[in-house]
Amino acid sequence: VPGRIEVITGPMFSGKSEELIRRLKRARIARQRVACYKPDIDLRYHRTAIASHSSQTHDATTVATVEELKAALFPQLNEVDVIGIDEAQFFDTRLIPLSVELVHLGKRVVMAGLDTTFNAEPFGPIPALMAIADEVTKLSAVCMVCGQPAIHTQRLGQSQELVVVGAAGVYEARCRAHFQPFTDEH
Ligand code: ADP
Repeated sequence: VPGRIEVITGPMFSGKSEELIRRLKRARIARQRVACYKPDIDLRYHRTAIASHSSQTHDATTVATVEELKAALFPQLNEVDVIGIDEAQFFDTRLIPLSVELVHLGKRVVMAGLDTTFNAEPFGPIPALMAIADEVTKLSAVCMVCGQPAIHTQRLGQSQELVVVGAAGVYEARCRAHFQPFTDEH
């Protein structure tokens, strides 16, 4: 497999995990060896798998940091062709040099993550990863107010914390017209 960086991005519910799982399954059909990781912040549904909101899954190793991801991956790197990373927005900027290192070693790195926070601000390492990627896939969801394509993640309710893990009921997809940045009045 030639080295390659792929980023799958967009708001929540846009099908990022689904698309990542689809690509990893196809790589396995092509007899490529796949290793998949996710941050331990995202424990929805599974501790040892990534899962989409539509309930598809793929085995994954949960790691707390980029250092921990490296420690898990590097001992078996000769046996791995494709590295999948879900919820990549929760890793810090060390993910950027790691991706560059892996691509120079001939690896295919496929990362899925939110491009923006619930305040519509760039999220963690994703914007920089989009800049250095060979391929960027920006997906849209369906706006829960009007049904048009949605690029934003709307947080419902009161919480101010950056990371509230969960899905339906806490966040919903919204188009530009129906997105409201978080304020205390909500
Ligand atoms: P992401 O990883 O981007 O959060 P997932 O791959 O986990 O997305 O889930 C995508 C699935 O979520 C869709 O196939 C659909 O079944 C479901 N879904 C729920 N709400 C929406 C929405 N507002 N727009 C699009 N898909 C939605």
